[in-house]
Amino acid sequence: MRAVKLVGPGTLQLAEVDVPVPGPGEVRIKIAGAGLCHSDLHVLEMGEAWPFFGGTVGHEGAGWVDALGSEVAGLAEGDAVIVNLVWGCGHCRPCTEGRDNACRVNGSRNLFPTTPGLGPDGAMAEYMLVPARQLEQLGAIDPVIAGPLADAALTPMHAINSARDRLTPGSTAVLIGIGGLGHLGLQIMKATTAARVIALDTDEAKLAVAREHGADLVLPSDSSAAQRILDDTGGYGVDVVLDFVGAQPTVDLATAVVAPEGLIRFVGLGGGRFPFAADADSVSLPWGVNAQRSYGGTRADLLEVIALAQQGKLVVETVRYPLADFQQAFDDLAAGKVLGRAILVP
Ligand SMILES: [Zn+2]
Ligand SMILES: [Zn+2]
Repeated sequence: MRAVKLVGPGTLQLAEVDVPVPGPGEVRIKIAGAGLCHSDLHVLEMGEAWPFFGGTVGHEGAGWVDALGSEVAGLAEGDAVIVNLVWGCGHCRPCTEGRDNACRVNGSRNLFPTTPGLGPDGAMAEYMLVPARQLEQLGAIDPVIAGPLADAALTPMHAINSARDRLTPGSTAVLIGIGGLGHLGLQIMKATTAARVIALDTDEAKLAVAREHGADLVLPSDSSAAQRILDDTGGYGVDVVLDFVGAQPTVDLATAVVAPEGLIRFVGLGGGRFPFAADADSVSLPWGVNAQRSYGGTRADLLEVIALAQQGKLVVETVRYPLADFQQAFDDLAAGKVLGRAILVP
């Protein structure tokens, strides 16, 4: 079978490899579609600093059950399934508390928990092996476009759930970056909260996507954006900021518009920084602000995402590429040309 492998620092290759055989507790999935993520680009940009080489990339996979290993129950050949993003151990204290994206057995203080495509073989291939308990049934959702639910929808869901008690009627939220994650985050906000949503992007086509999906106010993400948002909120700022980009201009924007006691969730990995000072005169943040880095999501977040998609309230906008055209897809993503999520179809 064909698989897109990270063969060396910053280097992807379409390889011909054996179709994997499921062992005890494992399931072979025939991949229907695999989403491309900015974190895949991040891995390439990290070069030699990335710790895992040789594996198949792709952490947004969905498809059909193709073969069952021994000791697998509750799944049948042909079932449409999605691959869970974060493979927690299921038994440690964070996992049993429902915080499997902070698993202390399959992850460590400095390394995220096991994530397929970012270490173990992932979804950019014709087939993939998955531990049976890391699969969820999709029901009637088309697996060709479902892969991004595993990350591009899960990750915003997790960030929104962590801010949910502040997204009350009368609140305002800012979403920065209406790309793969942002266009799904916007739909989750509109479907599950009463917050007024301001959507920002630098690209007019992505702002049009934001309008289509019900943003209450759409603004170009430029040097005037912070003042426009402050003006819009009477100078007070916004309750919640979700930064799906994380680059310096968006981190600056997030810290410039957050209200006292507001929440910032940094989801994008754009390398932006902000100063923090434990003093009374700090100009970097208003009093009481809570800022958080957000990794992936939990199994409960995934079930919520699947439920929303089954209800037709979460629609993944996709641009599809044949698996063999993976390089074009990566190039288009890097150039900011993808509206919604790029999907590789084997
Ligand atoms: Zn990702
Ligand atoms: Zn665990």
